[in-house]
Order: sequence, then C-alpha cells, then structure tokens
Amino acid sequence: MNYKKNLFHVEHISTEKLSKKFKTPLYCYSYLRLKNNITNFKNHFKKINPLIFFSVKSNSNVKILKEIKNLGLGADVVSKGEMMKALKAGIKTKKIVFSGVGKTYLELEYAINKNILLINVESKNELLAIEKIAKLKKKKVDIGIRLNPNTNPKTLKQISTGKEGDKFGVNENEFLNLVKYSKMSKFLKLKCLSVHIGSQILSIKPYEKMLKVIDRVINKTGYRFEFIDLGGGIGISYEKNNKKFNFKIFNSLINNFLKKNRSRIIFEPGRSIIGNAGILISKVIYIKKNKIKNFIILDAAMNDFMRKALYGANHQIIPSIKNGRISHKKFEFVGPICESTDKFLTVNKFQFIKEKDLVIICDVGAYGMSLASNYNVRPLPAEILVKNSSVQIIKYRQKLSDLI
Ligand SMILES: *Cc1c(COP(=O)(O)O)cnc(C)c1O
Repeated sequence: MNYKKNLFHVEHISTEKLSKKFKTPLYCYSYLRLKNNITNFKNHFKKINPLIFFSVKSNSNVKILKEIKNLGLGADVVSKGEMMKALKAGIKTKKIVFSGVGKTYLELEYAINKNILLINVESKNELLAIEKIAKLKKKKVDIGIRLNPNTNPKTLKQISTGKEGDKFGVNENEFLNLVKYSKMSKFLKLKCLSVHIGSQILSIKPYEKMLKVIDRVINKTGYRFEFIDLGGGIGISYEKNNKKFNFKIFNSLINNFLKKNRSRIIFEPGRSIIGNAGILISKVIYIKKNKIKNFIILDAAMNDFMRKALYGANHQIIPSIKNGRISHKKFEFVGPICESTDKFLTVNKFQFIKEKDLVIICDVGAYGMSLASNYNVRPLPAEILVKNSSVQIIKYRQKLSDLI
C-alpha cells in the first residue's frame, strides 16, 4: 500500500477507484501485506518452530480467517462465536485455543465437544466447571492455565492484562494450587502454561520479565508442560517515530528459555499480523472552521473505528490524492456521531482539503471492524480484500433496512 504518482494504491488499485465502486466508509485489506506479515513472523522464530494461532478478536472476518488459515495459522478465540467463525474458515479444531475470563458453561461444553487443542483456564471455578462437564461426558479435557505474571507491559493502561489487579489469569500461588489439583484430576489433562500480558507492546523488557517469571514458576511446579503459550501483544508502528519491536532479542530470549524447558511454544498474535494490512477509506462531508481549528467532518465515525474513542490511540490520516499544497492550521478529523470522543486525529498541518475529498485512516486492520457497532443507528461499513489484481467484497455494507 503506497502512493503511485500521488494516488494512494492498495496493491494495483487506487483508493479513488475503490471508493467509487464500493462507497465509503470502506475497510480495505491488502492480501500481500497480510502474507508478508505472516511470513516475517514465521521467519523471526524459525528455530523455535512455534504454533502460531491468530487472535480472532483482532479481526474476525471469515474470509480473512480463511486466508490466514491457508497461510498456516490456527486461531486463538475468546467466545463461542469466534470459535464458530474459526471453524467456518476451515481451521482445524486441533489448531484452536480458547481463552477468556468468563467462558459460560455452554461455551465450555461446545469447546469440549469439539475437542479443541486447549482451553486456557483463568480461574479455579472455571476449572471446576470444565471438570464437571468432562466427567459428565466421560472425557479427559486438555487444558492450559493462564498465569498472571504481574508484569507491567508499559503500554496503554486500557490494553494491559498481566498486572496484579487485572482480571486476567491467576496469580502464582493460585497457579501452583491449580497445577496440583489438575494433576490429580481424572478428567483434566494439564498441557499448557499460558500468559498474555497486554497489547501494542514495543519494548522487549516486559517479555523478558515475563519469561523469567514463567521460568521460576515452572521450576516450582516441577511439571513438564507440553506447551507454553506466550500470548500475543507484539506492537506495530502506528506513528512515524514509534520504535520497532526487537524480534531478534525476543527470539534469543525464548531460545534460552527453551534450553531449560522442553515445550512447544504457542504465539497468539493479532495486531502484528493484520494491523497494518487494513485501511479505512472515508469521505469528507463538511469542513467547519472556527477561530482555533478546522474540523474535517468525515463519513466514518467512532462506530466504524473506535480505537481513538476507546483508548485514545492515534492513527495516521493521509490524503487519497496528494496535491502537495500544505496548510499550516490545526485540523481535527472527526465523525458525525453525537459524542465529543468521536474524533480520529488532530494535526497542525495537512494538505489543502475540500468537501468530497477522500482520506485514508491507516493501520486499522486490527481492532477496527471487529470493534465496530451500530451506534447512532449507523450501518456497519463494507470490507474488501485486494488480492493480486482482484478485489473481493468480504463483507457487504449493512443496509439500514437490516437495522430498522
Ligand atoms: C487479545 C489477545 C491476543 C492478541 O493480542 P495482540 O496484541 O493483538 O497480538 C492474544 N491472546 C489473548 C488471550 C488475547 O486476549
């Protein structure tokens, strides 16, 4: 995805063309980006030969999941609905893990019937619920236990999940108790220690600390886990000066860890696989000026893309056609929704822009469409996938008649 002669292109097709055909707001993904991200992720960890399970909550479009499956990945799911989508995409049950603090009895039953690879347990009571179902079905269920390693991931507080006080996983003491309990159970087969400390992590330090904690806890259990599930969380560059995640160091830390612990590593990446493979194309409805700034009112809103409203996350906005005429003013890109948090970005300069122009909100592939809602009775946008020289609608724009 790049400019060709001042026109932004997704592979071989310009965003101008795409928006004419498919209207706006429009989610658009590049297959090539997706494929490169997966290839790179695999190459970073060649020696480790990990199982890579895509985090479905980051993007749950079935067509995208199908492509991801064809590129060799499994799925990390956090609800029955996500599991059904993963299965619909053709992902094998033995390439699915199920996480989440509030799996219902019905969801657990569904997962147990499907014989998925692992249910990653997040509390004593969930463990007991699984055991109860397993006993009724006269089955032995494969589980992991999610450890809360009490590690500060140094990311946005809203997407931090591995500190004491976060609802996720169990602390060290409880972990040791649950290991003891599972070892004695006739209906549980403990196979995995899992962690997931947060998202959009760019520093290696939190992972380094996390591996130390895991190593110490495993030693205390004296148990050999078939799998160590390190979760997801690897960050991407949303802003130009973001530092890059150091895969090399992470890889060597894990290799050292594996010298002492003979386990298969599982990763659950979401953002690092699909984040920069998606854009949101939006049209300017009005430009509204006051003394302090120019509001650029877009046809996309927080219901279409809510990362700014939800976490304060900034995404770059760029023009669909570059004209080279820069205005040094304060521009605020906002949506039409009746909430003051319905805004995307404030910048001190942008190119000369007028009504009906198109802009591109960058890097929205992860936690974009999967977080979209119908707030203000706005239909969900369409999603398209550009693959080689073909364009495919992978989700039709919702119709107002579906909503009313
Ligand atoms: C959200 C989530 C992930 C994916 O996180 P990314 O930051 O998108 O890589 C992985 N595992 C679990 C359990 C999650 O909840």
